[in-house]
Amino acid sequence: MVQYGFYFNEDRCINCKACVVACKDWYDLKPGPIKYLRIYEYEEGYYPNIKTHIRWVTCFHCSNPVCIDACPNGAIYKEEKYGAVLIDQEKCKGYRLCQRACPYGAITYESDRLANDVKANKCTMCIDRLEEGLKPVCVLACPMRALDFDTMENLVKKYGSVKQLKDLPNPSLTNPSVVFKPKGEKKKIIPYDEDKALLLLGSREPLPPIFKSLNDIKEIPMGIRLKDKLILKPKNIEELMELTRDDNG
Ligand code: SF4
Ligand code: SF4
Ligand code: SF4
Repeated sequence: MVQYGFYFNEDRCINCKACVVACKDWYDLKPGPIKYLRIYEYEEGYYPNIKTHIRWVTCFHCSNPVCIDACPNGAIYKEEKYGAVLIDQEKCKGYRLCQRACPYGAITYESDRLANDVKANKCTMCIDRLEEGLKPVCVLACPMRALDFDTMENLVKKYGSVKQLKDLPNPSLTNPSVVFKPKGEKKKIIPYDEDKALLLLGSREPLPPIFKSLNDIKEIPMGIRLKDKLILKPKNIEELMELTRDDNG
């Protein structure tokens, strides 16, 4: 079997979510919690050493798909031509054992209601398009060319073999069909006095300054910022919607 997979370049991604919208549009998925593809953005560190991470997360059609083993109804299977892991919704009874097993949180449901008719949903690798000789629609939609799709062999030849980004699950768990290009180190292009810049930013004379102490900005406790860690497996739909909301306008 030839295994196909994805490439994601974090350095190029601008979190525009064109890929997410294209996927929703192609599969006619309503706005809401059924998301074949999710983009998580979260911050690490404090001024001036703050870093934003973007994680592009779909089903990675793993070589060791633990979701298949978890389903007692045989509703998930790996097809032979592209190595896509697919769901047979007729067989799905909504037990959510696959969702629990998948370390990437790739399986979503239309509601939190536990019932046989609330079925599992996830990325199909755009197998309908592959059969027509087309690439997955998310890959083609990316205006930054941050994505690619090919056989894993070709992807590894072109981009290397990094299968993990910081805070993502250890790839040895499932051997995901993906290659990542992590973000490069942050460079200070123009040297400046960081504390002075911060004081200027906080000043709004003749009104009092926005913050009293530089430490108010430089030592923000965990939990105050909305997205200060990666949560791949939200506890319910409300949390999923909150974490995948676009705060950028
Ligand atoms: S990413 Fe999750 S749902 Fe997709 S194949 Fe791997 S274990 Fe299964
Ligand atoms: S491969 Fe297709 S189904 Fe999967 S995330 Fe991309 S657009 Fe959606
Ligand atoms: S379309 Fe490309 S740049 Fe935009 S969010 Fe998706 S991967 Fe990132």
